[in-house]
Amino acid sequence: MKLIFLGPPGVGKGTQAVRICDILDIPHISTGELLREELRNDTELGHVAKGYTSQGKLVPDNLIIEMIKERLDVPDCKKGFLLDGFPRTINQAIALESITDIDMVVNIDAPHDLLLERISGRRMCSGCGKSYHISHLSSEICPDCGAKLYIREDDKIETARKRFEIYEEEFGDILDFYRKKGIIVDIDGAQTIDVVTENIIKNIGGNNK
Ligand code: AMP
Repeated sequence: MKLIFLGPPGVGKGTQAVRICDILDIPHISTGELLREELRNDTELGHVAKGYTSQGKLVPDNLIIEMIKERLDVPDCKKGFLLDGFPRTINQAIALESITDIDMVVNIDAPHDLLLERISGRRMCSGCGKSYHISHLSSEICPDCGAKLYIREDDKIETARKRFEIYEEEFGDILDFYRKKGIIVDIDGAQTIDVVTENIIKNIGGNNK
């Protein structure tokens, strides 16, 4: 199955994407995580992207589209994939059409006040890239792999607000684009993690393990 996850920052796209990819056995392709990996690997793309990501701005379309094209060319995508954080502009959505077809778009949404609260408590693992909320943590160490947790630079409150503004500007057009194709399912992201996962699986017709 070829899926796209859409939704505002902090809505739980990443958390749900990991679960759904595990259930469906498809790769999780997060453009944000690919960019952070570029930076960890000290590449030119990583450093160029940081100039944008650290301010909550979008990385230019041409860089992102090239990066996603290369990733979708990797053989593990033959059985399907889940795109998380892409497309983020209408130009990216149009460009994606000439790269691959898409079966379904999962649109997860929740009130933005709740999301700002979630973002300000988010901690990322420097080792495995998983994300957590401080309310579920007893230390600053990843419960899964033991590496140190950190706060994403773009999760700082002012940068997070900027990301919401950008989201509002771009996502109306992207949602319309996929609604016209009739491939969107709408999911309430304000519910518990387990309930959201169940609803996604029910709506996309996937098999729960
Ligand atoms: P995320 O982890 O999805 O929240 O992405 C982190 C940051 O990476 C975003 O705030 C953007 O600066 C950048 N980014 C990720 N995906 C894209 C994209 N599809 N287009 C442009 N910039 C992106």
